[in-house]
Amino acid sequence: MSKKNSKTPVYLKPFHKTKYSYEKLKVCKKCHAFSILGDKTCPDCGKPDLIPVEEQAARNAKHSMHTAVLIAVCIGLLSIFLSNSFLQMALCGIVTIVLIGVLWIVQRNVLDTESIRALDKLFYANQKNVQDGIIEDYKAAIDNWDTDKQRCYEMLREIGTLLHNDMMRLRQLTLLQTFLLRKDMDLELEPLLVRKYEPVLVDYIGELAKIKRDLIKDRTFQYIMAFEPEIMGQEQGLDILTAVAGAAVRMKHYVRSYAGFVRRYAYNLPKDRFLRLYQMIEQYPNEDWGRLSEEVMRIYTEKYQWDPDFQQKSQRGHSI
Ligand SMILES: [Zn+2]
Repeated sequence: MSKKNSKTPVYLKPFHKTKYSYEKLKVCKKCHAFSILGDKTCPDCGKPDLIPVEEQAARNAKHSMHTAVLIAVCIGLLSIFLSNSFLQMALCGIVTIVLIGVLWIVQRNVLDTESIRALDKLFYANQKNVQDGIIEDYKAAIDNWDTDKQRCYEMLREIGTLLHNDMMRLRQLTLLQTFLLRKDMDLELEPLLVRKYEPVLVDYIGELAKIKRDLIKDRTFQYIMAFEPEIMGQEQGLDILTAVAGAAVRMKHYVRSYAGFVRRYAYNLPKDRFLRLYQMIEQYPNEDWGRLSEEVMRIYTEKYQWDPDFQQKSQRGHSI
């Protein structure tokens, strides 16, 4: 059975990205356990009381504001109670009402700032609980490793928004390599880049270079170039390096930045990628392409000189 056939077709759930990674974190109103997984049901106590940490922080901020209003009301009532005359009583009543009104307006204006402060406080006071919650989430994800790889990957992907380490990334990459990857899948690459040379990551990059070129950006080119000799030595290494060079041809910025790399694999590029590279160099003759332009012209003369597709010199290629 070929390597490709042993892969499983999966339909991954779309990954919902948030502006801040903590937005994914939830806290249980009952037992105060934290979790990044789960929608409403607390994984710790099983109660449907899981709410986003931001919501909890806003509740905490409102709670302290209500306490301040309550104190103001008490002081006001006390002053009315201790008044000697009706006039004093009325004055105290008016002053209290005005003060509460001002307090209410001020509080309404600072609610957002207070909520952020409350969120900071929440994290600071619960560092250990947050850590424990993420570890529990991780354990729950790994429980699916043998039985439901798709679920396991989806869970790890969620946890990966808050837990950044190479072990997490390698686990996800290992799972991804068991799936039949498709263009329409919600895949990611840069968050999965690890520090060392890892064939499983290189294989994944090689596949993306064919099906989702737009995910290959500067950091990935730099990773591939850092480990070029190692990749060359691995199975299908040349194919992977060529596919990555083909992905660089997508944009002028990448071809310019990694001209030496593109030059080394230009000869092996499939015709469509080479055509795009050829057109780019033709279109910008004054650009400093280094030795890449010579190599492209040499390949053109050797392989495509009589190819009609190469004759429309002014044809503009789009970013593909
Ligand atoms: Zn709970």
